[in-house]
Amino acid sequence: MNVLVVYAHPEPRSLNGSLKDFTVKRLQDNGHAVQVSDLYAMDWKASLDAADCTDWQPGARFNPSLASKHAYANGSQSEDIAREQDKLRWADALILQFPLWWFSMPAIMKGWVERVYAYGFGYGVGEHSDARWGDRYGEGMLAGKRAMLVVTTGGWEPHYGPRGINGPIDDLLFPIQHGTLYYPGFDVLPPFVAYRTDRIDDAQFLEIRDRLGQRLDDLWKTAPIPFRPQNAGAYSIPDCTLLPDIAPGISGFAAHIASEEPERAATADIAAPAMQYA
Ligand code: FAD
Repeated sequence: MNVLVVYAHPEPRSLNGSLKDFTVKRLQDNGHAVQVSDLYAMDWKASLDAADCTDWQPGARFNPSLASKHAYANGSQSEDIAREQDKLRWADALILQFPLWWFSMPAIMKGWVERVYAYGFGYGVGEHSDARWGDRYGEGMLAGKRAMLVVTTGGWEPHYGPRGINGPIDDLLFPIQHGTLYYPGFDVLPPFVAYRTDRIDDAQFLEIRDRLGQRLDDLWKTAPIPFRPQNAGAYSIPDCTLLPDIAPGISGFAAHIASEEPERAATADIAAPAMQYA
């Protein structure tokens, strides 16, 4: 299988650098082909602007979505964007690895998403009508591929627990996992999170590395988070709201995960992934 690792840390000798090197070796040892987009090493341009569209006329009003649509359709995207899209087409699985910075991904990685997910590639795909609202949330250009976050935090695990001060980690990562990965079609695996990493000793490093190694070994076995597909009957179209009989009484992020629904959780096939995700 082909694995793309998109990685954001400015220091190769960091914990994240070590874990990235470990990931590449482990995957290769398991027989997979690996490409790495090391965003700091590539000096990745993080800001989306008119320069991303090589035939943009100076002085013309810049509309980010329409410019992206035009450039993607006409082959006038900036070369760095097209190259990352090719890597995504090549990949069977995507790993996004980063330290949690201000409760999200580092800005350079956000900029990778904003620029690489062009209109017609990451969004704006498929029919938009009263019957369908595009190929997204379970469908899309990246459907059939797997994705997983590898995240390190400074905060302790309980800080990210169900009643922790930072908010539950699954909620914090929801915009990335559901909004950025599930949206264009990825099957999203539960995240690998290493907590309280700012000062660790060798034993703790080995423990983190071993846990990560297991997750990499299981990359094709682990059940994805059971996010609800948009176009499979759970949502009314075109307002994209859950139907009244789906997850009654549940709102917010949890309503979009099938296993969070009490009556469905009673069935064995749907309950299993939920337990892994929790
Ligand atoms: P490093 O600092 O490189 O290393 C951490 C520890 O690992 C050190 O003890 C180091 O000695 C050890 N180590 C590294 N490599 C090895 C190795 N090969 N073998 C053995 N030990 C090793 N945290 C949060 O929880 N929430 C936030 O919102 C948040 N926001 C942040 C915002 C910013 C701008 C910054 C700078 C930090 C933030 N943090 C936050 C903390 C951040 O998540 C952690 O500092 C980060 O995850 C640690 O990863 P690192 O790769 O930078 O670690």
